[in-house]
Formats: sequence, structure tokens, C-alpha cells
Amino acid sequence: MPHVDKLREECGIVGIYRDRAEDVAKSLYYCLYALQHRGQESAGIATNDGFHTNSHKEMGLVPEVFSEEVLKGLKGHKGIGHVRYSTTGDSKVANAQPLVVRYRGGSIALAHNGNLVNAAGLRSRLEDDGVVFQTTIDSEVIANLIARFSGDGMVNAIQRTMDMIQGAYTLVVMTEDSLIGVRDPYGLRPLCLGKIGEDGYVLASESCALDVIEAEFIRDVEPGEIIRIDQSGLRSWQMPVRNRRASCIFEYIYFARPDSIIDGTSVYEARKNAGKRLAVEHPVEADLVIAAPDTSIPAALGYAEASGIPFGEGLIKNRYVGRSFIQPKQELRETAVRLKLNSLRCSVCGKRIVMIDDSIVRGTTSKQIVKLLRMAGAREVHLRISSPPVAYGCHFGIDTPDREQLIGAMKTIEEIRMTIGADSLGYLSLEGLVKSIGKPAEQLCLACFSGDYPMQVPEIGDKKVFERRQRKEQ
Ligand code: SF4
Repeated sequence: MPHVDKLREECGIVGIYRDRAEDVAKSLYYCLYALQHRGQESAGIATNDGFHTNSHKEMGLVPEVFSEEVLKGLKGHKGIGHVRYSTTGDSKVANAQPLVVRYRGGSIALAHNGNLVNAAGLRSRLEDDGVVFQTTIDSEVIANLIARFSGDGMVNAIQRTMDMIQGAYTLVVMTEDSLIGVRDPYGLRPLCLGKIGEDGYVLASESCALDVIEAEFIRDVEPGEIIRIDQSGLRSWQMPVRNRRASCIFEYIYFARPDSIIDGTSVYEARKNAGKRLAVEHPVEADLVIAAPDTSIPAALGYAEASGIPFGEGLIKNRYVGRSFIQPKQELRETAVRLKLNSLRCSVCGKRIVMIDDSIVRGTTSKQIVKLLRMAGAREVHLRISSPPVAYGCHFGIDTPDREQLIGAMKTIEEIRMTIGADSLGYLSLEGLVKSIGKPAEQLCLACFSGDYPMQVPEIGDKKVFERRQRKEQ
């Protein structure tokens, strides 16, 4: 279930190849279940038995989309799966994935996590060449380019496609005889590789999807790497990498499950470390540390450990609030917070509370929570955020509101504190956050905090064109 006031991950992907005559649909289904937090609008699976591609996709959560009957119909010893929350393209089933594209040599199925920054230009060039698109998503541009170049062999086709596309992408591609995994040269979105049984392989957005089917984690797919798995086993090709890596730092802060390991770093440990550093950077005298449920719990534990203030429960989450409450209108958003969370009066009454949250996007949820805690008798409410203010939009597959709606872009920290109604407010510094993850800053994308994008992004491009035009006009 998406949080009402958080950045939202766009997609989760998985691919499984088994050499023996063993249907993989059910394993894909379990993996998608484990990746459900990465997308709740639609889900899909495509399988292939060496001759036919079968696929099923619908709007809804994984258990709503797939019944036992549907899974039985998805025959094949290899397959790919996708869960989606839309950021580009409308929210409708035609835009759900995997996409299945037929071409002269057969068919390919493709599932994509990420967002291209040059999709619009590529799309209009393809349309000029007579390509008719069935969807409004950038993933179809990738599928079309791969199909177009497929005469050169599938790996060559993917390499040529990678030369043309820019942005964030991890892909699982299924052909009649292979499963292919791809990670963009910056490594913006995660992808890992696992082994299942004696001869099977799994590719998945997060390692928690491997755990659920008892696959053994082998390693992360490298930025710019193409992995092909077929009858002869696994082979890898490395495309030239960029001058830097840029793994999305938000995977560690909020998107990924805490039990996942991304690029060698435990998400849980990273969050806990962030909480410890937050306690050092923003100490406060208080009686109880609580977490904004659920993703902030590791950071709250870290804060409690480093500060010596006990950790306890202060907010109770209603786990049965349906997705229909997640509406863009402001008044509904506030209702959704009240439906989703309630304060634990016996725990917070008369106490000085430190509430830990992993991020603030619009500030609506934080304001409601502070109000709930005060209504329950909290004497003081000190808000501590285990990341810096979100001040810039994401161009790489994460749903960010317009900049005017990002409270971190529009207000000073004191203004935010006043808006939210907390007694004090402290954000973890960017330096502190990077240290918590334990990777050099040059290996991470930090753009939603710093505005320093790892590549040229549309607005900046447009701004430069505009500035050039202005210079000419002068
Ligand atoms: S801009 Fe932010 S959310 Fe987007 S990829 Fe970079 S760090 Fe992640």
C-alpha cells in the first residue's frame, strides 16, 4: 500500500529461466508478491515454453490479477513479471507490462523499471518511420528499437538500443530461447542475479524476491551490463560505463524493502545508520522515540540506540486501508492519513516525543501525525528526518510532485517546522546520509536533494535551449 505523502517507486521486475521442463509462472507470482511495494497499480507475467509466449496483465494488486487458473495457463520454463505504478503514460491496462512485441524473427517480451529522458524524441523519430505505438509508455520505445535491430542478434540489438536510449532502465527481456537482463550504464535502478536449483537463474529488482523462492543471491548486475541466460548457461557483456555510477539513494531511504541488499549494502543497516547519525546531528531531550510506520522503524531504532532514549510504539497503522483512498486531492489525502494512522494514547500521553520519519514530500502527513500525537496528550513533538529536504523532481522513474508542492523546495526548515506544527525539526545532512550508506557520493544519484542530475534532463535541456535563444535575441 503506498504511503500517502511519499515519493513513489515506479516498478518492480523479475525474470526466471529454468532449463528443465518446469513452469515458472508460480515462482514469478511469488516474486512479484515480494516486489509489490514497488508498484500497486498493475501486474503482469509473460512466459514462454520455447514455442509460444503466453501473457496476462491486469490493473490491480498481484493477488487480484492472478488466480490459480490464470497461472496454470501461463506455460513455460522461462518468464518475466512486472508490477507497476505509473509515472509516465496513463494508468490503464494497455500500459501495464510485460509488453509483448512481435517482429520478423519471432516475439520478445519486455519489462522495464525506470524512465528514459529522451523517449519523446526517439518516439517521434520512430513514428516518422511508420511505427504505430500501442501504448503511451517509454518502455514501448525500447521494445521497438530492440525488435528493429534484432536482425543483428539479440545482444547486438540491445547494445545498439542502449547506445540510443538515455535515462534510467533495468530491463528483463524474454525471447523464444533466452532471458536477458540489462542495467543502464549509471546503474540508477537496482537489478540482482540469483540461482535457483541446479540450472536456473533469477533476475529481480530486489534480493527479497530471490529469498521468497529460495533462490541463492549471486551478485548485483553491474551498471552497463547485459546478462543473457539460455541453454548454454549464462554469459555477460559489458557496455562502456559512464564517468560515474549513480545508484538511486532513495532505494536505501524508502523504496526498497529493508530485507533487501542493494549493490552490496543492506537497506536495513543503511536506514539504521542514518538514524544513528541523525541522533548525533540533531540531539534533543525527550522521553520516547517513535517511528512513522513502517519504513522509518530502522532509523528510529538507530536514533534510540545512539541517543539512549527508549524506542516505543506511538502510532498504529490500519493495514486495511484500500488504494482507493490514495487520491491526489488535498482534503482526501488528509482523510487518508487519519484512516491509516492513529496514535497510541497510553504510550505518548504526557511524554516528550521524538518522531522519526524517512522523508517529507509535501508535509501533509507529518502535519497530521503531529496533530494526532498532540491530541493524544504528547507534551512535545520533535520531528527528525533521516534524509535531507526533498527539493527537486526525479526524472528517472520516481513519481515526484511538481516542485511547488515539495515543501523542502519552497520553505526554509523553520517555515516547514511551523507549517507542520512540531516543537523542533531536524533533517539529516546529505553528507551524513551518504556516510550512512557507506558508498562514495560519486556512486550515488543525489539529485532530488541536490539538483545535481547525473545526466542532462529535459527541463535543464529546455532551459539551456531557452537561454541560448535569449542570448541570440540580445
Ligand atoms: S532524483 Fe532522487 S529519486 Fe530520482 S533517481 Fe535520483 S536519488 Fe533517486
